[in-house]
Amino acid sequence: MRILIRGGTVVTATDMASADVLIEGERIQAIGTGFDDADTVIDATDRYVMPGGVDVHTHMELPLAGTFASDDFATGTAAAAWGGTTTIIDFAVQERGESLSAGLDRWLAKAAPKSHIDYGMHLIVREINEAILREMDAMIERGVPSFKLFMAYPGVNMVDDASIFRGLSRTADNGGLIMIHAENGGVIDVLVQRYLAAGKTAPVDHALTMPASMEGEATHRAIALAELARAPVYIAHLSSRDGLDAVREGRDRGVPVYAETCPQYLYLSLSDLDRPGFDGAKFVCSPPLRPADHQADLWRGLMTDDLQVVSTDHCPFDFKDQKALGKGDFSAIPNGLPGVEDRFTLLWDGGVGQGRISPMRFVELIATAPARMFGLAPRKGTLTPGSDADIVIFNPNTERTVSASSHHMRVDYSCYEGRRVRGVPEVVMQRGVVLVRDGHFYGKQGAGQFLRRSTFSPA
Ligand SMILES: [Zn+2]
Repeated sequence: MRILIRGGTVVTATDMASADVLIEGERIQAIGTGFDDADTVIDATDRYVMPGGVDVHTHMELPLAGTFASDDFATGTAAAAWGGTTTIIDFAVQERGESLSAGLDRWLAKAAPKSHIDYGMHLIVREINEAILREMDAMIERGVPSFKLFMAYPGVNMVDDASIFRGLSRTADNGGLIMIHAENGGVIDVLVQRYLAAGKTAPVDHALTMPASMEGEATHRAIALAELARAPVYIAHLSSRDGLDAVREGRDRGVPVYAETCPQYLYLSLSDLDRPGFDGAKFVCSPPLRPADHQADLWRGLMTDDLQVVSTDHCPFDFKDQKALGKGDFSAIPNGLPGVEDRFTLLWDGGVGQGRISPMRFVELIATAPARMFGLAPRKGTLTPGSDADIVIFNPNTERTVSASSHHMRVDYSCYEGRRVRGVPEVVMQRGVVLVRDGHFYGKQGAGQFLRRSTFSPA
């Protein structure tokens, strides 16, 4: 089966040119002109032809705060495909006292029968000991070379500095990558107790107990530990100027520190948490939304490569029945936002549409850099002969309105309700198979493959 995508502008992280893309089976056969024999021709005139998005931070059906993230691997990956994302990396969670492999097996069992798109796994590691350190090597053998450690949530996920240092030292040897949730959890817990004791229980108070300075502090500390361990480190969901300053300072010093931000930190702010009634709960996530003046700094970080990746931290909860668990107590609001479907178009609209970044930089942020850093290149994240035919044909001229009434994520609200955006992924393909075309979905549950990833490479 040969498919020809004809007449579009092919965009990679390094080039942009009018060219046709010839697909043979699951892979890209050639990019160029003058191909004539194909079974199917897809017209891409006036469209961009780009690699499918790679979202390295999602939480499908994550158990949290007595409930589960509302998207499972079926609905969440379908929504991702609708939005132009063809690969996710989700987080398997190790329960305390459990082996890493048991946690991984549980997550793979959830994903395999349901996922519409290809997926990899990271591991959330909740304790460090000799056995766990040895098992990290075994996880790398199984294609899971990245491990998330938390500096926040004492008693739940937080590990101490000694554990982080031991984890980093192990990855310095085995080629893995430590990802950090960088907020000072001890201090935040004290503030939470103070706020609740003073009767400050509204959604906005959630954010006020997690000041940006404590993200900056933890980010700085994580980088110092990585520098000592001579290991790379990846700062997850960086939300603030304070965090970014720490990353930039580390990079300027030559430390291999990398960081992602998420659309919510580029588009939403503290004032959304202060919406009337309980509406602010729709915007409760961790790290929290910051005052709006942080946004320009984060955009600049994307422009200057102090930030290398845009992912979503997709972790949706219904407003009506799930966010409502925290009425009268912000600390009981399930933390997390929907976003896996919106990332591609939001970053295009605010990035390329506003003249901040080029289409090539867009592709680098949305697909190429995450694929390379997380061991998926060159199979994913770019368009080149031999790579998977994961392709988005993007129409930059169609305007649409983001809304819960038209999105495909299984959640009853949108953080961007009513926002006008320009650009729509009209055709989305994975390994040569059309998943989405002109408003119709052709994906199949269970068609997504588990991606065994190789060890870390610098972006
Ligand atoms: Zn997360």
